Amino acid sequence: MNLENIRKTDPQIADAIDAELKRQQNTIELIASENCTSLAVMEACGSVLTNKYAEGKPHKRYYNGCEQIDIIEELAQKRACELFKMDHANVQPHSGAQANMAVFMATMKPGDKVLSMDLSNGGHLSHGSPVNFSGLYFDVKSYGINEYGEIDYEDVRQKAIEHKPKLIICGASNYSKIIDFKKFREIADEVGALLLADIAHIAGLVAAGLHPSPAGYAQFVTTTTHKSLRGPRGGIIMCDEQYAAAIDKAVFPGMQGGPLEHIIAGKAVALLEAAKPEFKEYASQIIKNAKALAQGLMDEGLDIVGGMTENHLMTLDLRKTGKTGKDMANVLERVGITANKNTVPNDPQSPFVTSGIRLGTPAVTTRGFMEEDMTEVAKIIASAIFSSDNETALDNLRARSMKLCEKHPLYSK
Ligand SMILES: *Cc1c(COP(=O)(O)O)cnc(C)c1O
Repeated sequence: MNLENIRKTDPQIADAIDAELKRQQNTIELIASENCTSLAVMEACGSVLTNKYAEGKPHKRYYNGCEQIDIIEELAQKRACELFKMDHANVQPHSGAQANMAVFMATMKPGDKVLSMDLSNGGHLSHGSPVNFSGLYFDVKSYGINEYGEIDYEDVRQKAIEHKPKLIICGASNYSKIIDFKKFREIADEVGALLLADIAHIAGLVAAGLHPSPAGYAQFVTTTTHKSLRGPRGGIIMCDEQYAAAIDKAVFPGMQGGPLEHIIAGKAVALLEAAKPEFKEYASQIIKNAKALAQGLMDEGLDIVGGMTENHLMTLDLRKTGKTGKDMANVLERVGITANKNTVPNDPQSPFVTSGIRLGTPAVTTRGFMEEDMTEVAKIIASAIFSSDNETALDNLRARSMKLCEKHPLYSK
């Protein structure tokens, strides 16, 4: 990667970027929400578009000189609508949390009721956590997952009938089963609620047709672009035509100023990439790899919340090993595997310590890992957990991780 100019101007930042590149190249990335974008996406994000103010929307801007910006943003919108089969797309949200915030703003008044998945059960902060805007300004009721790691739709329905929310949110940050959008819409219709499907995690699988689509069921679909969709960091909101004006107004002037047009160009490139047959192959391999990892871990005697995964991620349940998520995530980092601690259902530990580790396969699949590599990763993880106090063993496991990284180079050209 070319850092020629940064190196001249700011060697400290150049050194840190270089070191980060090496870290990414030399570690096995299992953080389920991360991925490695194409160089084409990065070029768009690092382009002259960062210089441009473009408040407003295509052909209705508050600044002049937006001819090329309009072309770029309209391409991003069109590609998002085509890929996800939705009427309207706003590609300006700076992040997934802001995409959700705009839907709240477009559909509700402060104090209105929302029904969403609880954070400790796999939901997202921006779906109503008490420390987030969503929980501070709205009346949030939540549903969770059962002992099989699945949403209990009858429980969701009962809660919807009891609380009569204005908005129901489905979609999660840590849920390993297929989401039944049709069922959610039936529940929403029964109580007169609107449905938001937040597909931040599974967007790549939905785009590839490997997870059912919320199109036709959810009036609003939000996503991040940087997770399984493999684009730049950012958000997109899609909706039925009748809500288009309200959504656009909520994004600007409701909560954002000038859009990040360099990132929007990156989103456009990623959306084009995601429509290609190669992406379908990629998404299919993500799922195969997740299944191989889950099976490998279970074969080593470890537990997975809900058993076999149906998508790109899983939660390793450490309760019977007597170890914590916090300690084991650090041990995994020691052996060259990056992952995050996560609560398991009814976790006896605090959210800062936890009894689980969330593992996902989008990033390693991008660099070419296949099922047999995931089996080796499962063995490394299990050995690291069972011999977490043995420095020599951990050194050997670090070397095994390194071997996998060298087998599948990242950004090597
Ligand atoms: C990651 C995520 C978000 C938020 O994305 P940011 O870009 O980090 O704000 C929102 N919803 C869900 C379900 C997510 O997993």
